[in-house]
Amino acid sequence: MCPVNTDDFIEIARDMCEKAGSRLTETRLHMLEVLLDVKTPMSAYELTDHYNTLIASDIKTMSVYRVLDFLESIRLVHRLQSINKYIICNHTFGACEEHPPLFMICKSCQHIEEVEIAQEVIEALTHHAKSADFSSVGSQIELYSLCKSCQSTFHKKLS
Ligand SMILES: [Zn+2]
Ligand SMILES: [Zn+2]
Repeated sequence: MCPVNTDDFIEIARDMCEKAGSRLTETRLHMLEVLLDVKTPMSAYELTDHYNTLIASDIKTMSVYRVLDFLESIRLVHRLQSINKYIICNHTFGACEEHPPLFMICKSCQHIEEVEIAQEVIEALTHHAKSADFSSVGSQIELYSLCKSCQSTFHKKLS
């Protein structure tokens, strides 16, 4: 985990947009600010509400989807496929360009951590995927478990 501050993140985002032959438009910039502000995965509808509250605008969900699609395509943002929610990339230094990100998702409270994953693990998974006649492990890996605070709630209930 390498939490960066907002200014650094925006600078990196600007570079990544330019590398993709595009640019960090005002709407894209605001969307990143919203995602940095909420810190928790949100659906496009929830993000639309937050965007309009935080930025004091009236962006439509359709536009939010377009912005998110672009940010996802350059891996500044990830869409959690199993719950259809968006979260900002936790790495931002291009780590997720190299290999698929791994998300630990709490099945109780939906707390999410994007975890650094070793290259050997990806290679091993790819090997298993290929031996089952699949091309690769896919663009990201999502695992369900219980986060620290839900584990202690769970244990309290048991005792
Ligand atoms: Zn990432
Ligand atoms: Zn939890």
